[in-house]
Amino acid sequence: MIKTTTVKVGEQPTGVPMEVPVIKIQGQGNGPRVYIQANIHGAEVQGNAVIYQLLEFFRQYPPQGDVVMVPQANPLGINQKSGEFTLGRFDPVTGTNWNRQYHFDSSLLEPFSQQYLDADEAVIRDAFRERLREQFYERQSSPWGLTCGQHLAMNLQEMAMEADIVLDLHTGPISARHLYVPEYARERARHFNIPLNILIPSDFDGALDEASFSPWWQLSQQFAKHGRKLPVMVDAFTLELGSQELLDVNAAERDALGICNYLQHQGMWPDKPFNCDPISLYACDLSDYKAYHSPAGGQVEYQALLNQPLAAGKPLATLWHFNTLGSESCLSRELTLPCDSIPVLHFASASVQQGTELYKVLTNTFML
Ligand SMILES: [Zn+2]
Repeated sequence: MIKTTTVKVGEQPTGVPMEVPVIKIQGQGNGPRVYIQANIHGAEVQGNAVIYQLLEFFRQYPPQGDVVMVPQANPLGINQKSGEFTLGRFDPVTGTNWNRQYHFDSSLLEPFSQQYLDADEAVIRDAFRERLREQFYERQSSPWGLTCGQHLAMNLQEMAMEADIVLDLHTGPISARHLYVPEYARERARHFNIPLNILIPSDFDGALDEASFSPWWQLSQQFAKHGRKLPVMVDAFTLELGSQELLDVNAAERDALGICNYLQHQGMWPDKPFNCDPISLYACDLSDYKAYHSPAGGQVEYQALLNQPLAAGKPLATLWHFNTLGSESCLSRELTLPCDSIPVLHFASASVQQGTELYKVLTNTFML
């Protein structure tokens, strides 16, 4: 059964409510509960098409577990236009990234683990989720109020925190598909079939994936300190599905298929109806996911292809200085990297200041 509704996530100065669409699918049995959202960054629209394709799959193959999906999760960011471009990465009032405003306070871990050290896993799961809810509502009802970005984040997180699996759909600027993988979920991450992967630590830094898995990972660490092995009970991932300002509904079907392939390995369809053609999956540690900054201002011809290995010293980009045209000064220069890499994304504009993050690349890669 599929139900659609809206959730209010804020209010405009005119009093008009800001709402997000919510799609709820009731599971057929005992599968994992899943939360999927898209477009928290205003220009990153591809995830909406992926949710559209996922809904088609869920209609065709009703899932075992409950699914909640939120396309267009940030009405303020999506509508934040400047000329022909969508901004929508930062709250224009506070300057904070829309995806760094989720909440978790780790002070609850120690007293909780003392109390539940000998409890069954199912009891721990329910009690910890209840404790997270309590902390969450305490924050939500702060007598000092919340920022606009925190209101949005908390209304979304309220839905996400009930899930066993949380997927946050993003894109890069001009970008190949890539996936942020918490270390502990490395084995399972393969099933998304996304070619480039970045292994991240499991700490909390305010993003939705971290806010969803990190409390559970930290809980398992806390229990380990007391000598008890406890699995991490929630999986969460940030999927970067191509470039911003780009919608490709056919490509979204492939991305939705990868997500379903992962979900079926998590018990969503016991008869496993989905099948992905295996591809090479490259990965590196977050510390080896390097940004290359432009050594000077100028205009850039991006040379290196995304998702294609690039040998050290081979052309990455050409930086042009058209202000020197007709003079003796150097008109252009080749930019290169000091080591082998796989380019993941590059800056969206050809005009760059000195210090602009031109490319991000995987280095010291290995197969996932
Ligand atoms: Zn994003």
